[in-house]
Amino acid sequence: MSFLTLRGINKIYPNGFHAVHDFNLEIEKGEFIVFVGSSGCGKSTTLRMIAGLENISKGDFFINGERVNEKGPRERGVAMVFQSYALYPHMTVYDNLAFGLTLQGVDDDVIEERVNTTAKILGLTDYLDRFPRALSGGQRQRVAVGRAIIRKVDIFLMDEPLSNLDAKQRVTMRSEITQIHRQTGATTIYVTHDQTEAMTMADRIVVMKDGYIQQVGTPYDLYFNPVNMFVAGFIGEPPMNFIDAKVRDGKLNINGNIIDLYAIADKDIVNKYEGEELVLGFRPEAIKLCKNEDVRKAFKINCAVELTELLGDNTNVYVDIQGIKTILKVDPHDSPAINEELQFAIPFESVYLFDKATEKRIKFQLTAE
Ligand code: ADP
Repeated sequence: MSFLTLRGINKIYPNGFHAVHDFNLEIEKGEFIVFVGSSGCGKSTTLRMIAGLENISKGDFFINGERVNEKGPRERGVAMVFQSYALYPHMTVYDNLAFGLTLQGVDDDVIEERVNTTAKILGLTDYLDRFPRALSGGQRQRVAVGRAIIRKVDIFLMDEPLSNLDAKQRVTMRSEITQIHRQTGATTIYVTHDQTEAMTMADRIVVMKDGYIQQVGTPYDLYFNPVNMFVAGFIGEPPMNFIDAKVRDGKLNINGNIIDLYAIADKDIVNKYEGEELVLGFRPEAIKLCKNEDVRKAFKINCAVELTELLGDNTNVYVDIQGIKTILKVDPHDSPAINEELQFAIPFESVYLFDKATEKRIKFQLTAE
């Protein structure tokens, strides 16, 4: 059994709402796990059941092999950081950090040493005498994280800890939390609706939707091998493009642009979908502009440019394929003009196919050499 085991966990709230369905997960010691999904998908509920703040309606939760369903938050040895910093406004940073230990009756000199070490890890040494009102949002959040790590627990739970920070502070705190995790080695479960946070911080990501796990995997796995359209569309920014099309004679006809599926996938697989609707998926950043390179082993598509957004490191190009809208991501130096007609190529290895009815990915071995 792993360090943390969630087996068949369900949450049914007293009003009858079934918020989490059959949640199964094994977490190894020291892992940084991120629960990600849109608001309301059950991330916080799951985290709160792990914390012991919410009872588990059905299923079993084990820490280190011991079933802890009935144990309270303190007995589970977890520390939680919430969205709101929940600092004591009338206490200095030092006292905010020390508070939990003082309550536990820890000796003053031990407290001092732990506060100083924690402050050092978090870059708060110069702020120990300040009150929370005299700190920036990022510094306050660091104190909140400090109050959790000072307890030296094995398990950290974080619920959208960066959502009150501005964009720049979020990026800074993201890497700080990753570094703190490296230093403390504590097993961490982190909840966010932000796929960038999930991708940049996680060892493994758990993607949730409507109370169900969609996929568990490394950031690399989820990006390159999504199991369904939800995961494919959730991970990546801008999201993957999806185009519906019917298979006829093994081909998809995207408003005059022919995608010959036999060129990429085994005949058996293609034939299985003859006459059926499929969804073609490709990432905006996976395409190549044909005017730049002679792209081989790729499907070519003609389109007209509707809008461009120069972002600095790249340009998002909104194009129209005779009525079908998609987004391409190109080098800023290649930014096309509005109304320009262009041809782009989707390399064979960047083509995804989904079953339209089930939204599941259709797996195929690329046959093209
Ligand atoms: P997330 O953290 O992914 O945004 P939550 O876990 O907070 O989602 O909520 C999951 C679902 O459970 C939501 O539909 C929410 O409205 C519902 N929910 C949360 N708390 C309660 C509650 N105490 N009673 C009934 N339903 C709740």
